[in-house]
Amino acid sequence: MPDVAAESRDFIRDIIAADLRSGRTKSVVTRFPPEPNGYLHIGHAKAICINFGVAQEFGGRCHLRFDDTNPTKEEQEYIDAIERDVRWLGFDWGTHLYHASDYFAQLYDWAEHLIRTGHAYVDDLSASEMQAMRGTLTEPGRDSPHRTRSAEESLDLFRRMRAGEFPNGARTLRARIDMSSGNINLRDPVLYRILHAAHPRTGTAWVIYPTYDFAHGQSDAIEHVTHSLCTLEFEDHRPLYDWLLDHLPVPSRPRQYESARLNIGYTVLSKRVLTELVRQGHVEGWDDPRMPTLAAMRRRGIPPEAIRDFVRRVGVARANSVVDVAMFDHAVREHLNRAAPRRMAVLRPLKLVIENYPEGQVEDLDAVNNPEDTSSGTRRIPFAREIYVEAADFMENPPKKFYRLSPGREVRLRYAYLVTCRAVVKNAAGEVVELRATYDPASRGGNAPDGRKVQATLHWVSAAHAVPAEVRLYEHLFARPDPGAGGDVFADLNPASLERLRDCRLEPSLTAAAVGEAVQFERNGYFCADTTSRPDRLVFNRTIALRDSYAKAGG
Ligand code: ATP
Ligand code: MG
Repeated sequence: MPDVAAESRDFIRDIIAADLRSGRTKSVVTRFPPEPNGYLHIGHAKAICINFGVAQEFGGRCHLRFDDTNPTKEEQEYIDAIERDVRWLGFDWGTHLYHASDYFAQLYDWAEHLIRTGHAYVDDLSASEMQAMRGTLTEPGRDSPHRTRSAEESLDLFRRMRAGEFPNGARTLRARIDMSSGNINLRDPVLYRILHAAHPRTGTAWVIYPTYDFAHGQSDAIEHVTHSLCTLEFEDHRPLYDWLLDHLPVPSRPRQYESARLNIGYTVLSKRVLTELVRQGHVEGWDDPRMPTLAAMRRRGIPPEAIRDFVRRVGVARANSVVDVAMFDHAVREHLNRAAPRRMAVLRPLKLVIENYPEGQVEDLDAVNNPEDTSSGTRRIPFAREIYVEAADFMENPPKKFYRLSPGREVRLRYAYLVTCRAVVKNAAGEVVELRATYDPASRGGNAPDGRKVQATLHWVSAAHAVPAEVRLYEHLFARPDPGAGGDVFADLNPASLERLRDCRLEPSLTAAAVGEAVQFERNGYFCADTTSRPDRLVFNRTIALRDSYAKAGG
C-alpha cells in the first residue's frame, strides 16, 4: 500500500503520488542503472536510496539494471562489486536483475524500425568530422552528406555493420531529427557505433553497440519502468529520451525526472578520477578506506544505516549544491555512538609503572561495554603494576588547564584507581620514556573514599596483557574542500591522508574483534578491524574521530 507519509516529502514523491492519484500509473516501477565501469560511491548511494526507497514507500519495485553498453570499460569485477554494495546498503532487487545487454536483440530490431520509418540513417563521417559539423550552442549544426541516404541503403549498411564488415569508427547509425535544434542532443545523435570488443555477457556476438541514449529509455520501456529517476546532467537528454519513445513501438511509456547529484566537500565523486586514483596507485585500491566508495566505507567501519540516514537528510532537490562533509560525519557518529561497544586502546603508548602496586598481582576489573546500551553488559579487563597510557596524556610542564598527568598530579585510571605521577624517566636524548607513579589502594573503581576531586580520567592498558596492533588514522583524501578547482585534481591530494601507527596496544578482548565491526576506543574515536587484520597481526582502521576527543575526559 502506498505510504501516505511518503507524500509531499520532495518533488519526486509529489509527482509519483499525483501519478498514482490520477491513474497515470497503477504501480511504481523504478530502476537503479549503474554502468559497471567502476565501484559504487556515496553519490550512487543517493541514487540507490531514492530509487529503491521510492519504490518501497509506494508499494512498487525497483530493478537493478546494469547499463552495460560499453564493453571496453566494463568488467565482471565491477558487476560483482556493485551487487555486493547495493545489498550491503540494505536494498534488494529480488528477481529483478537486468542488463541493457539482455535487450541487444530488441534494440537492434528497433534500430531497423527507425531506419525503415525514415527516422535513422547510417553515416560515414568519422567522430571528428561529426564533431566539427555539430555546431555550437549558438550556431546550428550542418547536415552530413549521408543524411539523405535511402532507407534501403542505410538498412543494408547497418546489417553489414552488424555483420562485422567495417572497422571501429567507420560508420554509425544516427537518428534523423534536426541538425539546427537548439538542443545539441537532438542534432542527429548517434544510436549505434562499431566496436570490435568482447562483452562480459554477450561475448563476441555483437560488434555494434547501442549508445547510452538509445539503450536507456528503451530499456526502461521494456521493463515497464514508470519513473526513470536520474541526475540533472540528463535534463538536456530528456527530449531525446521522449523522441525515441515516441517513434518506437515500445510496450510502455516511462517518464524521466532529474534531481541534483550529491556533491560533498573534500570529496571527488567522478568515476574517471576515482579510476585514475586506483590506477596510478594514489590509493591502495577501490576499497582503500580513504575512498568515497561504498566498499571503502564498509572497510572503514561506516554503518550502512548511517549512509541511508545521511542521504535522507540531504533530500531530493532540483538544484545542485555541495553538502558539508560534517553532515556525513554527524550521521556516522550518531549511529556508532549507539551501536559501538567501548574498549580501551592506547595509540601512542607511554609506560607507567605503579611503584606501590604488588609485583605479579593482576586484578580483573569490570568495565561497561556501552553506556548508551545497558543491555550490552560489562567485561573484565586486567590491571597490573605496569600499564601503558597515551603519551599525549602526559606533560612535564603543563599549561594551566592541562589536568592530565604531570609530575605530582593525581588522575583517575578508568575503572581502576587514582594514581599520582611521582617521577619521569628519560633516555639519553632527553625524551620521556617512562613514568613512575603511586596508586591509592582505597580508590578501586576510581573514587577516593575521602571524596577528593580528580579532574582527568585516562584510558590505559596493562603492559603485560595488552595486544600489539597497527592502527591507521585517515584524514580527507583531498586537502581542499573543492578538489580540482585549481585545475589539477591530483595536485590537491592530501599528503597526510594516512597515518600508520605501528606500535599501538589494545585491551586483550580486541583480539576477537570481527572485521568491520565497530568499536569505540575510549577517547580516541571509532575503529574497526581491517580486512587484512589477523589474530597475530592486528590492524585497525579509524572510522571517525570523536568530536572532542579530550574535552569530555576533562583534559
Ligand atoms: P559516469 O556515467 O560518468 O561513468 P556515473 O557516476 O554517472 O558516472 P553511472 O553508473 O552511470 O555512473 O551512475 C548510475 C546512476 O547513479 C545514474 O542514475 C546516476 O545519475 C547516479 N549517480 C551517479 N553519481 C551520482 C551522484 N553524485 N549523486 C547522485 N546520483 C548519482
Ligand atoms: Mg552515468
